[in-house]
Amino acid sequence: MSKTLDLTKELIARKSLTPEDDGCQKLVAERLSKIGFLIEDLQYGDVKNLWATIGKSGPLFVFLGHTDVVPTGPIASWESDPFTATEKDSLLVGRGAADMKGSVAAFVTSIEKFMEKEPNLIGRIGVLLTSDEEGPAIDGVTKVIDYLEDKNEKIKWCLVGEPTSDKKIGDVIKIGRRGSISARINVLGTQGHVAYPDKADNPIHNFSAPLAELSSLKWKDETGKFQDSVLQISNINAGTGATNVIPGNLTLDLNVRYSPSTSIEDIKKDIESIIQKHDITYEISWNIGGRPFLTKETELINAVEQSVIQITGMSPKCTTDGGTSDGRFVAPTGAQVVELGPGNASIHKVNESVVIKDLEHLSNIYNAILNRLLTSS
Ligand SMILES: [Zn+2]
Repeated sequence: MSKTLDLTKELIARKSLTPEDDGCQKLVAERLSKIGFLIEDLQYGDVKNLWATIGKSGPLFVFLGHTDVVPTGPIASWESDPFTATEKDSLLVGRGAADMKGSVAAFVTSIEKFMEKEPNLIGRIGVLLTSDEEGPAIDGVTKVIDYLEDKNEKIKWCLVGEPTSDKKIGDVIKIGRRGSISARINVLGTQGHVAYPDKADNPIHNFSAPLAELSSLKWKDETGKFQDSVLQISNINAGTGATNVIPGNLTLDLNVRYSPSTSIEDIKKDIESIIQKHDITYEISWNIGGRPFLTKETELINAVEQSVIQITGMSPKCTTDGGTSDGRFVAPTGAQVVELGPGNASIHKVNESVVIKDLEHLSNIYNAILNRLLTSS
């Protein structure tokens, strides 16, 4: 019987919809305190965070994860109750199985295995869990990082358990993430009758030329580790619904996922200079999402790569694509951040699942990473 599988099932049984934790962190804390971890519960607003550490001195290695899950969607579409982990052929089905209760369980069992051998520990281990990764992420990891900075607690290596694998466990790891910036543009015109265009000012017509230019905007990646950054328009609205009225305004939402080669200032300047060149009257509001990061030091990356090879026999591909993760809050402190978790094909979907045997493989990979970084040979 797999301890990682058992713990994953226990975690799935807790309905921890963001920002609820529903006892997940208590369960983890109980397991970790049994083997000597110091436990701190850090609650901010209605978000629960767990900070658990062991070890006296030396570099700090942290497992970073979240206990919250996204909503189930229509329960009737699930083949089994989303909060009752159900084995189906080679899969364990349940909300959070892959994102990321399986990883959280693997954190715990990998540490238990590691401590059982009474290792000659040359560093410290931390476990940082939040119940708000899938939500606004305001009272979660970012607050805990502030708390740790105040205590002068420096994380050297951070392993994030987000589901990164593609076809096989450990085949893809992430060594960075793109940043995200959004804008809403309100193009101002003058409403009027379509039969009297000289008495109106049509924002749809006015904005058609800048729209074409905006949609082909691109910022080149120079790190060699990211895709080029492109602009995507997600919403565009204008018109009253009547066919004989020129609308008074047009609104448009856009987003850019950008690499560390590009700055927010460059993106803002390039977008606004296109609009201004066409003499558009407009308002714009910006929303800065996560900042990009790229782990350049090789210690943690090598330890993860070697551990994946040791357990699975194949070497992982290092990527930087996909959405943002809580790694964005840890990387700016100077920590090396690498993400490795189970397959992500089913995350956020109905019938979310994880390959059962991957759970133990993941625990073994995490265990091998601890051995590489935190023991003297
Ligand atoms: Zn996640």
